[in-house]
Amino acid sequence: MSQAVPSAEQLIVNSPGPDFDQAAESLCEIGREFYRRGWVFGTSGNFSATISWSPLRLAITSSGLDKGSLSPSKILEIDSDSQLLRGKGRPSAETDLHLVIVEQLGAGSVLHTHSIWSTLLSDRWAADTGLVLEGYEMLKGLSGVSTHEHREWVPILENSQDYVALRADLSAVLKRHPKCHGVLLRKHGLYTWGRDIAEARRHVEIFEFLFEAEARSQFVTNPAPPLK
Ligand SMILES: [Zn+2]
Repeated sequence: MSQAVPSAEQLIVNSPGPDFDQAAESLCEIGREFYRRGWVFGTSGNFSATISWSPLRLAITSSGLDKGSLSPSKILEIDSDSQLLRGKGRPSAETDLHLVIVEQLGAGSVLHTHSIWSTLLSDRWAADTGLVLEGYEMLKGLSGVSTHEHREWVPILENSQDYVALRADLSAVLKRHPKCHGVLLRKHGLYTWGRDIAEARRHVEIFEFLFEAEARSQFVTNPAPPLK
């Protein structure tokens, strides 16, 4: 394990965010790309960007939309209480999870996906409360990681529709693992973040590569027992 990896808190700088229109365009582009790549099918997933720190303001996708055909008019502006300030629609139930990550880590963008590989791995390793990714060259795509010898711990939280409880669980896990770059919800998906939208997007791409590599490897060498 690398000793020199700074924490997410150290890495992410509270730099001024993009303006709302720029953020909305970028989040729509992310939606089209992630839909095409199979990471946000069936209206799943949600994306946000921090556009102001004081007061805190996020641009965030509205609930229940097909991410493959997002338009900037479907992006909302919210405050730190998830109150709608701009746009028509309803903030996602998962908005509170974005706010926890932004407030605790100073993230400039939070992206949430529902891919097949993250869904499978998050179930297989749920009893261990996390998953280790190590030895992969692609780990160097995570912010602050400079060697394949890095050991990335990806915490796994039980999924829930109780987002008040889930927010508390996520907050606690980020305090316990401040160096992590992402968190999985069991049989649900990935939350990752970055200092800006580009870095958060890269983290999704890196994690999705690593999840697929790890899952294919694990399920070939140690397949699940047949159903009885
Ligand atoms: Zn979700």
